This record gives sequence, C-alpha cells and structure tokens, in this order.
Amino acid sequence: MSATYRDALRAALLYLVLSVVWLQFSGHLLNSFFDNSTELLRWQLINGYLWVAFSAGLIFIARARLFRCLGVGAKLRERSEDRERLRQAAAVFDCTREGVLVTDSKGLIVHVNRAFMEITGYQREEVLGQRPNMFKSGHHPPAFYQEMFATLDGTGEWSGEIWNRRKSGEIYPQWQTIRIVRDEQRQLSQYVAVFSDISAIKNSEHELKHLAHHDPLTTLPNRLLFTDRVEQALASAQLHKRGCALLLIDLDHFKMINDGLGHTIGDQLLKAVAERLKALLDPGITLARLGGDEFAVLAESCPQLVHAGSLAQRIIDDLREPLHIEGHRLFINASIGISLFPSDALSAEQLLRNADSALFKAKSAGRDGYALYTEELTAHAQQRVEIGFELRRALEQQELRVYYQPVHDLKSSRLIGVEALVRWQHPQRGLVSPAEFIPIAERTGLIAAIDAWVMRQACEQMCRWQAAGVALSFVAVNVSSRLFARRELYQQVAQVLRETGLDPAYLELEVTESAVMDDPEVALEQMHRLRELGVRLAIDDFGTGYSSLLRLKRLPVQKLKIDQGFVAGLPGDEDDAAIVQVIIALARSMGMQVHAEGIEQVEQARFLLEQDCNLGQGYWFGRPVADEQLNWAHAPEIR
Ligand code: C2E
Ligand code: MG
Ligand code: MG
Repeated sequence: MSATYRDALRAALLYLVLSVVWLQFSGHLLNSFFDNSTELLRWQLINGYLWVAFSAGLIFIARARLFRCLGVGAKLRERSEDRERLRQAAAVFDCTREGVLVTDSKGLIVHVNRAFMEITGYQREEVLGQRPNMFKSGHHPPAFYQEMFATLDGTGEWSGEIWNRRKSGEIYPQWQTIRIVRDEQRQLSQYVAVFSDISAIKNSEHELKHLAHHDPLTTLPNRLLFTDRVEQALASAQLHKRGCALLLIDLDHFKMINDGLGHTIGDQLLKAVAERLKALLDPGITLARLGGDEFAVLAESCPQLVHAGSLAQRIIDDLREPLHIEGHRLFINASIGISLFPSDALSAEQLLRNADSALFKAKSAGRDGYALYTEELTAHAQQRVEIGFELRRALEQQELRVYYQPVHDLKSSRLIGVEALVRWQHPQRGLVSPAEFIPIAERTGLIAAIDAWVMRQACEQMCRWQAAGVALSFVAVNVSSRLFARRELYQQVAQVLRETGLDPAYLELEVTESAVMDDPEVALEQMHRLRELGVRLAIDDFGTGYSSLLRLKRLPVQKLKIDQGFVAGLPGDEDDAAIVQVIIALARSMGMQVHAEGIEQVEQARFLLEQDCNLGQGYWFGRPVADEQLNWAHAPEIR
C-alpha cells in the first residue's frame, strides 16, 4: 500500500471522528472554497470517488493542513450529495407531467417547468417575475382564494380543484397542490405549486354522467334525471308556494308503426317527435323520454289546472301534424295524463304514479286526448281550455258586447257617468260573464286585444252620446293588471283617443289596487304618463289590496272605488262600516273622489251618503245594460 493510500486511510478514520467537530469551525472558509471551485466540484461529482483523491492529494502535499483538508473532504461530500439531490430534483421537475410553479416569498414567479409551459401555453420568460394571479379564470369568487390562503397559512399546504386560464384564453380545471417552503429560520421563502390538467377527466366524467342521465336516441333526459328534476322542482315549488304539473305523453298506436315499418323508422319517428316537442315547449319546461314511446313533461310554473290542460292540448294538436320520415308521411296521435302538485300529489313518485293513472284514463276515453288525475277537474279544465280557443274566434266574429252600468251622484241622484263592462254573446251558452273569461283571456294573452276593443267601443259610444246632447261626466273602462305595467298601454290609449276624437277628460281608466301595488314604481310612472294625456284615473276594488298610504298619496289618481265586498255588509256589519268610513276619510283627505260599487239596497246608499261618499253604482241604481237600454232618468231620492 503506497504512502499516499495509507495516508488517505488514516485520514478517513480521523475524518470520521473529527469531521463533525471540524465542520463547526470550517464555516466561511469552506464555503468560499466551494464557491470558487465549482468546476472542479462538478467534475468530481460525475466521478464519485475522485474527491477522495482530491483530499488525499492535499493531505499528501500538506500534512500540516490535514484536518482542514479532511474538513474540505467532508463538506465536499455533503455538498456533492446535495447537488446530486438537486440535479435529480431538477430532472424530475422537468420531466414530470405535472406543471410546477415556484414563487418567491413575495409571490413572484421564479421557476416553472416544461409541463407548466405545455399545459398553460406560456413560455418561461413570459411568466418569470409575474404573479400567479395572471392565470385567474374569474370562475371562483374572492372567498375561494381567501379560504385557500387561510388554509395555506394554517397548515402550510392546500390542495383542491381550481379553474385557471390558459394563454389561449381557455378556462380549464386543474388539480393543484400548493405548499409553503420555509427556510432554516422558519421564514416563508417560497410557494411551490404542483398541478395537473384534469380537463380530460372532467370531460369523460361529464360524458359518463350524460350517458347515465340521458336517452341515447333522443338525447333527452331519461327517467332517472327526470325524477330528480321533479324532486327538485317540488322542493322549490313548496318553498315558493307554486303549482307544478307533470304530463305523461304516450304515442297512440306507435307499436303499429314500429312493427309495420321497422325499428329504424320507429326510432326516427321518436327522434322527430322529440324534436317537435322541444321546439314547442318553452325553455323552462323539462322534456324527457321515459322509455319506449313514453315522454314526460314537467311544467314548473303551472299555477292552475287550466294551464296544464292548455299545454296538453297544444302538445296533442302539434303532434297531429304529419311527420315525414324516409318518404313516409306518418300520422301520430298522443294521449296525455296530467297530475298536479300540490293538489294531486306531494312527492315526485306519487306525481308520476298519478299521471300514469290519468294517462290510462285518457287512453280508455278513446285516446288522442288528455285526462287529469282528478275526474271533475278534467271536465272543468277542458271547458276552460275550450273557452280559451273560442275566445279568439269570438273576438274575430264580433261576439263581444259592451254593456254600460250607470254611476250616480249620491247627493243629487243624477246619472253622472257609466262604467263599460264587457260581455260575451256566446252562440250556444248565451251571455257569458267577464268574471269567467277575463282570467282566461289574461292567461292566453288575448286580454290586450279585448281591452283595446272595449276602450274603442266605449270612446266611440261616448262621442255618440255627446253628439246626441247627453251630458255624462265620464265613461270608465277597466284596464287589466296584465296590461297596466306595459308601455303599450299609453300608446294604445293615445291612439284610441286620437282616432275616436274623444276629449281625454271624459275617459276614466280603472286599475285595480293590486295592479298598482304589485310594482308601485312602474305604476307611478305609467300613471303620470297617462295623466299627461289628460285621462282620469281610478283605483278599482279598493280595500282588497295592500296599499301603502305613503304610496297612495303619491299616485296621480282622482278616484277610489270602494270594493263591493265592503258595501255588501252595510250598514249593519260594524267592520264593513268602519272600513268604508276609513276609506272615505282617506280619499277625502287626499283630495280624491269616493265611489262605492255594488249598492243593492237603499240603506247602503243612505249610509254612504251620510258618510259623505260622492258616487254610487249598483243594481239599486241599475244593472249593466246595452247602450240603448240605459235609463237616463234620475234615480229615486235616497233620503
Ligand atoms: P269591476 O270592474 O269591479 O266591475 C263591477 C262588477 O260588479 C261588474 O261585474 C258589475 O256587473 C258588478 N256589479 C255592479 N253592481 C252590482 C251589484 O249591485 N251587485 C253585484 N253583486 N254586482 C254588481 P261584471 O260585469 O261581471 O265584471 C266583473 C269584473 O270583470 C269587473 O269588475 C272587471 O274587473 C272585469 N271586467 C269587466 N269588463 C272588463 C273589461 O272590458 N276589461 C277588463 N280588463 N276587465 C273587465
Ligand atoms: Mg271596474
Ligand atoms: Mg270593482
């Protein structure tokens, strides 16, 4: 063994004992030594053992400095392991498929790896020195980031799903882990974020979910998803006290088409039916295919059975139109069963079951029709749906009439004005009351045409009376609450006045209290515009809504009409008497006229006169009649 090696061995033994001690002293000197000899060090790292030779060489050359050289050797080894670890880490860092981003303690990006660039689309130099919030997607609320930093501060680590933005602008999901790195003094030195792009996973998750919840033929929701939607809808309907309707649609004699023309045509027919229904139904309505030739519809805002009935009728009519499939002209009819929430059932399962028995009823009744779960409702709904359809025809064929009811001045008993009230002269059913068809007209949208027609008739009639020398102070027409909030009302009134030539001061518009108070700000604006036209405004059925006195005071209204419900109890019912007195006092204090409707007995008229009510209307004075039957005579003296 050469002297060199003996020395080296001895040195190694001593190294074991003393290296720890020595390292404590070597401090700066060694550090500066390494820092100045990086090249040499690297070379030695590649050839693992050569550092020994290097130390030994030094020992050999300068025994006196043995300890120091040993120390150098020890530190050198430690350093080389660190470097090796770093080199490995750097290789891993660059090869890993996860994106890695490192920021300094101030949050400025100091490192990113290759995967980062591939995932985000940014080059290294574009992001170094920037802050990671440059990748923010806007998908998360500020609270999300606050919580993330709170967790990081508390535990030193956060992981979770986060949506960020690529350089292309695309938003994508990441699974990200962020860790705080602290230095020897426990001070925050870096943040390291490791993330993977999980958009592919999300997409396949989404596809799987879609497959599990949708019918592959029509892409409509399947029974599973539909039942889920019904459950959600019922929970929300319960909360908001709304009604819902569930319709089960079954195609009549579909089996014959399927068996006769083959399954391919059958499938195409089902697809075509799905498309047709999708086009017919409003976006808020859920359509599903439950299986076979059975479809289902969930109408979440269906307050009354008449809505469900007319929806069913629309579906039936729509499906009656022939379908053209591969050269075949196919006719298909449908039967529909309807179940309503909350009147028929309170749970999704029960609702579906009831709709199913209603469907059975519709089929037993000869198919190509609908049935409600409750029998008497079916007839009622069908009648109302029929009215809806007939009403359109009535308007075109001039079956509507305007009747006029006299309004008298209570002090003088003089006939001072009239209220125009619409009637429907039905060819079979006789004179139909507006109480029956106005609500249907409001729902079917026909109300605008009806009110415009009545207003025109009333203004023309008033012009004729004026021409004949009849001195009436006003003709009052009712304005549906559905129209009151619409801008067209102003244009419509202006147009009728212009075309009929009636002085606006003779036209009075009656608006119900609830229409005004539903949206007081809009009502106020609308009323001011109407007032600018010069027409008079009255609040109808006063006392039935929830007026705010403050709001009432601001309304440019000339008249309050006390609802007939309060007049009915006069003068005996103390509550009615008290309410009527208050309304009269209120109207008087605001400088408005008071008009009582529904006066059937002279005692009622007398009480009202004593309370200083101005005007009266009711069967005691006269019923609503056609213009030629109006009695122009003064009413009998009230006192
Ligand atoms: P309304 O505007 O409050 O009209 C007063 C209603 O009370 C009328 O019913 C009238 O015939 C009835 N009436 C009058 N005097 C008496 C009485 O002494 N005793 C009883 N029991 N009833 C009396 P009608 O004509 O059936 O109208 C009902 C409602 O239909 C009206 O209530 C009004 O809200 C609405 N309406 C009538 N015509 C129209 C119209 O052209 N357009 C709109 N949008 N609604 C109308
Ligand atoms: Mg009225
Ligand atoms: Mg009224």
